[in-house]
Amino acid sequence: MLPGWFEEDHAALFETASRFARERGLPALERWRRQRRVDADFFREGGRLGLWCCALEEDLGGGGGGIAHDFAVIDAIARAGISPAPFQVHSVIVPAYLRDYGSPELKQRLLPAMARGELIGALAMTEPDTGSDVQAIRTTARRDGDHYVLNGAKTFITNGSIAGVIVVAASTDREAGGRGLSLFVVETAGLDGFSVPRVLEKMGHHESDTAELSLVDVRVPAVNLLGTEGHGFAMLKKQLPTERLIVAVTATAAIEDMVRETTAYANTRKTFGRPLIEHQNVKFRLAECATTAFVARTTLDACVTRLLTGDLDDVAAAMTKFWFSEAEQKVADTCLQIHGGYGYMDEYSISHRYTAARAQRIYGGANEIMLEIIGRSLTRTRPVAEPAPPARGMAR
Ligand SMILES: Cc1cc2nc3c(=O)[nH]c(=O)nc-3n(C[C@H](O)[C@H](O)[C@H](O)COP(=O)(O)OP(=O)(O)OC[C@H]3O[C@@H](n4cnc5c(N)ncnc54)[C@H](O)[C@@H]3O)c2cc1C
Repeated sequence: MLPGWFEEDHAALFETASRFARERGLPALERWRRQRRVDADFFREGGRLGLWCCALEEDLGGGGGGIAHDFAVIDAIARAGISPAPFQVHSVIVPAYLRDYGSPELKQRLLPAMARGELIGALAMTEPDTGSDVQAIRTTARRDGDHYVLNGAKTFITNGSIAGVIVVAASTDREAGGRGLSLFVVETAGLDGFSVPRVLEKMGHHESDTAELSLVDVRVPAVNLLGTEGHGFAMLKKQLPTERLIVAVTATAAIEDMVRETTAYANTRKTFGRPLIEHQNVKFRLAECATTAFVARTTLDACVTRLLTGDLDDVAAAMTKFWFSEAEQKVADTCLQIHGGYGYMDEYSISHRYTAARAQRIYGGANEIMLEIIGRSLTRTRPVAEPAPPARGMAR
């Protein structure tokens, strides 16, 4: 089913991205999974087709469209069975920070190269000792003349080993907690003190590079500070509805694909002399999954419309992230079970869908943090008009 919010140009972009993913991505996918990263060429070719940074203004090298254009590309890549994680970080999340908070010089220098796929982006918040509790970040940034000096370690960073530009969250004032958090643009090429100790082995999303980063006395020009000191938490918070909706876009594409694949399988595979689909339990379980797919697509349309009209607040975004990622996991589990032993084998796409779904409940804010945000909205203990201080553990 195509998204209800598609207009003609979204549909055309979706078609281009689908063809590109199928013809240029799928034949290379096994190799990407073995090497634990997507080829740099794929980013560059996608750039030539205008698939990245679609929401960026044209004078910054972008497509001059809106966030829905970016969603169309993510949807197409996810449907093809390729992890969209490297592309959503590179093409949607990081450019938005640069565009909204970068200096004019920084924007002109970095964003057109990112849109061309020549410079790959990453976002580094998570650290070995803290993920959910963003305010406990230990990486520090100390002002030294016209530079900042960064020290710390990051982990689980998507595109970490291939990124040329990384938005790094660091504390400029440890005593101030969340109010001391700042964001810096770290340009990695030939940068002293910056290293990638490890590309991490993980359960799924093998084609997506996930790495540890080390920063030892890394000198970053002061102009690479995004916005102003101490506003990092607010900047991160502003992007969260979009990030959380991306999880839903990916989940919906995956759910639809799993239902399609599993329906085809259940109509072909026979046990006890008849196709699986003719066993009532299989038919009913698949009917439930098909219903989830329908409800997910319909609900996603409503959520995207809300985002486009500025009406997707933090609580609605948390509900969206929670529900879609949980639904994806349930469908993945049912569809894998219907595949029997074959579902556990990597040569069947459902095996990859299953492990990819598992990460969706963790990144972009663990689902328990989503429940915390939703739950707090139900238990207001202070007058609504009173401005809330940044709450611990609310950002991811
Ligand atoms: C594949 C993948 C890609 C990622 N990419 C990036 C990236 O590009 N950049 C980046 O910065 N990070 C990235 N992450 C990190 C991700 O955002 C964190 O893993 C996530 O925020 C959770 O942090 P944590 O792993 O430190 O878990 P912790 O914060 O240690 O939490 C562990 C678990 O405890 C529970 N929990 C924690 N706090 C609470 C609470 N207050 N109430 C109830 N339960 C709670 C939750 O179940 C949670 O899953 C990625 C992670 C994965 C798996």
